[in-house]
Amino acid sequence: MNYFSLNHNAPVASFKQAVIQGLAPDKGLYFPESIQPLDKEFFRNIDTFSEEEIAFEAIKQFALSDIPEADLKQIIKDTLSFDFPLVNIESNISSLELFHGPTMAFKDVGARFMARCLGYFNRHNSSSTVTVLVATSGDTGGAVANGFLNVKGVNVVILYPSGKVSDIQEKQLTTLGANIRALEVNGTFDDCQDMVKNAFLDEDLKSVKLTSANSINIARWLPQMFYFFFAYRALKKQGKEVVFSVPSGNFGNICAGMMAHKLGLPIRHFVAATNINDIVPNYLKSGHYEPRASRSTISNAMDVGNPSNFIRIQQLSGNDLNSLKSIFSSYSFTDEETRTAMKKVYDTCGYICDPHGAVGYLGLKRFLDEHPGYSGVFLETAHPVKFLDTVETTLNTKVNIPEQIQKIMNRDKVSLKIDTYKELKQFLSINPA
Ligand SMILES: *Cc1c(COP(=O)(O)O)cnc(C)c1O
Repeated sequence: MNYFSLNHNAPVASFKQAVIQGLAPDKGLYFPESIQPLDKEFFRNIDTFSEEEIAFEAIKQFALSDIPEADLKQIIKDTLSFDFPLVNIESNISSLELFHGPTMAFKDVGARFMARCLGYFNRHNSSSTVTVLVATSGDTGGAVANGFLNVKGVNVVILYPSGKVSDIQEKQLTTLGANIRALEVNGTFDDCQDMVKNAFLDEDLKSVKLTSANSINIARWLPQMFYFFFAYRALKKQGKEVVFSVPSGNFGNICAGMMAHKLGLPIRHFVAATNINDIVPNYLKSGHYEPRASRSTISNAMDVGNPSNFIRIQQLSGNDLNSLKSIFSSYSFTDEETRTAMKKVYDTCGYICDPHGAVGYLGLKRFLDEHPGYSGVFLETAHPVKFLDTVETTLNTKVNIPEQIQKIMNRDKVSLKIDTYKELKQFLSINPA
């Protein structure tokens, strides 16, 4: 499979090239040249397949040209080393819990898959290593750090804004050691991201092989299809059509669901639920796509003012707004509505949603109110403990700290403080991977 740039001004790339480069040279996102639906028979018999078999069927056309079958199956096996439970919380409403991985957020799936692909591509180059450079506002850094821990041939450098990530998130970034290093930037997330962009463009750093690990990378995006298949399998016997609601920021997760649908997965409709960063809901209403500076909310992993994956969603719907609307709706919710939903779900069902999952729940309810009779699933994208303050003050209750979080809370933070791009550059030059 080859991938072309959605800016249409770069040569096509193989899976391997696209994964290593992240973004195409014309700064466009990569997109597969063709998408072949899976056999109808496969969906009819999906309950007879294991999760690993399903994942292999879903991803094989995208990666087999560069990773042999046995290795791809091993990568999938290592990626899916935790559960994806579907928890019924009301009639016709289930929570797809994507937080049972090592950093307790759904990004573990993409990060683990991508890390193992890079490790595979680098398997013979023990002397030449790539450096994954990533800026994080919280969850991405932890998932990437954990996913790449001890992967041969890959070093990870994470930039995070000092004092602006939660305690748990900071521990997840700074206590792993080995091939993971954390730089604590005196500034904001935008400053971190600017430094990363500068490094990618810096001619002086050409000898340091840099690559990115954010959601634009196809190896982080595509494996997110897997759990849409798993949820469908779990609901199939109910015989109702399935609707997914996905709390969305950069729209990578929901875009993976729509790719699963392109492969033939029988999904009736997608709901993209956002916080007040409502660029996509506005676009569906007005037909005008108007990016804006992001605004802060309690579901901060979705504070995105220009969702990078939306262009892939448009591509998947033939760049036609009406055809998009036939399968996709999008609604936005305020922090107050989010807190009210968290309380309601807790009081009536005894279920604790994190703020992101609560936005997903709200989107699903809105859709089902107007379109009853479907089986609805919202994606619970992070464990409530990752947003401890918000959850505990909103619900007036204590959240149990899971074992994998407790373990890291006792570890010592190791980070290097930097103020300027010059210091980052010096760090990368004297620590060439
Ligand atoms: C990253 C993230 C999201 C948004 O996912 P996108 O793929 O960027 O739309 C939602 N919830 C949580 C907890 C996240 O970390």
